[in-house]
Amino acid sequence: MSLLEVTDLRVSFSTPDGVVRAVRGVSFAVDRGRTLGIVGESGSGKSVSTQTLMGLTPGAKVSGQALFEGADLLTAGERRMRQIRGAEIAMIFQDPLSSLHPLYKVGRQIEEMIRAHEPDTGRDAVRKRAVEMLGTVGIPQPAQRAEEYPHQFSGGMRQRAMIAMALALNPKLIIADEPTTALDATVQAQILDLMRRLQREFDTALIMITHDLGVIADMADDVLVMYGGKAAEKARRRPLYYRPHHPYTKGLLQSTPSAAAGADRLRPIPGQPPSLINIPTGCVFHPRCEYVMDRCVTDEPVLDPVTGDDDPTHVSACWLPLEALGLGEDAERLRQ
Ligand code: SF4
Ligand code: MG
Repeated sequence: MSLLEVTDLRVSFSTPDGVVRAVRGVSFAVDRGRTLGIVGESGSGKSVSTQTLMGLTPGAKVSGQALFEGADLLTAGERRMRQIRGAEIAMIFQDPLSSLHPLYKVGRQIEEMIRAHEPDTGRDAVRKRAVEMLGTVGIPQPAQRAEEYPHQFSGGMRQRAMIAMALALNPKLIIADEPTTALDATVQAQILDLMRRLQREFDTALIMITHDLGVIADMADDVLVMYGGKAAEKARRRPLYYRPHHPYTKGLLQSTPSAAAGADRLRPIPGQPPSLINIPTGCVFHPRCEYVMDRCVTDEPVLDPVTGDDDPTHVSACWLPLEALGLGEDAERLRQ
């Protein structure tokens, strides 16, 4: 059994404008020590999905199942969720300033997190571990920096501190939601390297949420592409990049500078993500799809195996036959 197994997750919110159906039947699994990349534009449901697992979407109507080590997170009480959050599943967000308290020293915040879950560990031991963690994530002079406030840290250093905090309790799963989006390219690469290294060292499972396929290009074992609250395509990393089936996945590849080889061939996906209140009929991607057929407007595609692929996990929700996509061309381009 996988560490986390999510089945048919559905999340909706009532708003004055109508019901927002943010997640509409998504399934995925993460194994110990592996990385699942969840990719999609904003509003695809990728953040809402994981926030719901963590019990962080109050007021939402939720159904489905999310087994973490065999127990359903969606029906766990708040008490159990408080134990799980941080100690068993940790989250890293785009903006560390929203998670780090501005008025407390960085070291102290890590200490308090440890203490909240391990009340019996002595002060000195906790303090030592907090400083060690800051060192582990590459913060120079960690004992000294532990005495500083978040605003005295650069963006990259703050993100490192967040990672230290996430790892301090040695969680089984880390959920990182756009952890490097706010950073410049060089710092982003350093943070991704660090996460990759620590994940191996700590044997943590990782869910990496991003709008940028480039971010997980050499990181994810498995990739879930989300669009309009649903899974558009799922596969292991290589087939996803080299033999994408869904036109949306292809569109993402062609519009992502760090994933596409020739920047001159960058092509943004025209149009806007769908309204999740008035969801398009048929295929949710049809208003933007260059391959749209009559059938796409009326019939909703389901996830079907991509045949002829040596990846048994590769599925795609699109009516197009494989040949129609001219697969292979992108693969060539990406290999160059
Ligand atoms: Fe495009 Fe039709 Fe496939 Fe949807 S089902 S992605 S509209 S070709
Ligand atoms: Mg988000």
